[in-house]
Amino acid sequence: MTTTLRISDTSAPEHRPSILDLTRSELAESMEEMRQPKFRTMQIWQAIYGESAKSFDEMTTLPKLLRANLANAYDVSVLEPMISLHSKEGSVDKVLFKLNDGELIETVLMRYSGRGDSRARRTVCISTQAGCALGCTFCATGQQGFRRNLSAGEIVSQVTHMNEVLAETTGGEERVTNVVFMGMGEPMANYDNTMKAVNILNDDEGIRLGARNMTISTVGLVPQILRLAEEPYQVNLAISLHAPNDRLRSRIMPINARWNIATLIQACRQYIEKTNRRVSFEYVLIAGENDKPVHAEELIGLLDGLLCHVNIIPVNATEARYDRPDQGRIGKFRDLLRRGGIPVTVRIEKGTDINAGCGQLRARAISATD
Ligand code: SF4
Repeated sequence: MTTTLRISDTSAPEHRPSILDLTRSELAESMEEMRQPKFRTMQIWQAIYGESAKSFDEMTTLPKLLRANLANAYDVSVLEPMISLHSKEGSVDKVLFKLNDGELIETVLMRYSGRGDSRARRTVCISTQAGCALGCTFCATGQQGFRRNLSAGEIVSQVTHMNEVLAETTGGEERVTNVVFMGMGEPMANYDNTMKAVNILNDDEGIRLGARNMTISTVGLVPQILRLAEEPYQVNLAISLHAPNDRLRSRIMPINARWNIATLIQACRQYIEKTNRRVSFEYVLIAGENDKPVHAEELIGLLDGLLCHVNIIPVNATEARYDRPDQGRIGKFRDLLRRGGIPVTVRIEKGTDINAGCGQLRARAISATD
């Protein structure tokens, strides 16, 4: 394994609100309150999202007094990379960030080369919470408990950091093309900050990431799924389903006791009716648990007639508690779904040499300091 390990310590944080938590219209309001001319908003926005300024001192288009006033009111940087890992074959970067209050989160950058009609993608998997309260049994983050919600700025900064990584390594040729809210935490349990992050990422004067290139994943918080259907953004929805019946799903996903499969699928139907957008169902395939032909048949029945796609994710081989099915079994499960009329793909595995699975690096970093 040729990984590059970079560890840097961070000093004690100061706790001011971050300017990165503001949408462009909120920044404009703040400028108005500071009695600044309208054009200051764009100067600051450009400095942050165009020039990657990390302090107000770097915003040299602003008058000195304003820079000082802004520095008294706001922070600019909200996270600092502690550990950066690069996978052996070079397609995955994983970063463990330290937030200003010392919490740790993970972000993953995946480089996919284009095949056939599909274009090359630079996808970032971002965290929305430090830790997670939902306790899915196959997930390293779920075993670590909940710490706190991330702010919108902490969510967005993971993307801007990866944009900087790509710019540095490609001479400015590449930038992030897709964002998946599938890292640490449940995005819909931090709904408002997640949607604010979507707004900032989508801003056409800033990061300019198309809403259709963003995917929000959820274990199935039904009220928030219905709320998402009413949002103006055409983001994609991915449901972590992972089991075709309540008995099995409740065993591996405690949230199923709150909203069972029937309620969840009904919410998905309403979401599709309202948005006319396809829903992705994520299915972690675990040997001996949910990978039998009978499970595939149940899944086909469950999703019959839904505008959807199933993404099979063979369970991470480093999860001590569960075994990964062999290739034959994975292929058989996929083929059964396909024959049952369900569009399906098996997720390409990347970055296993750098613990790219959610929560693994944080767990490793914490145990190293115990
Ligand atoms: S899979 Fe997602 S929702 Fe479940 S415990 Fe892990 S981070 Fe939380």
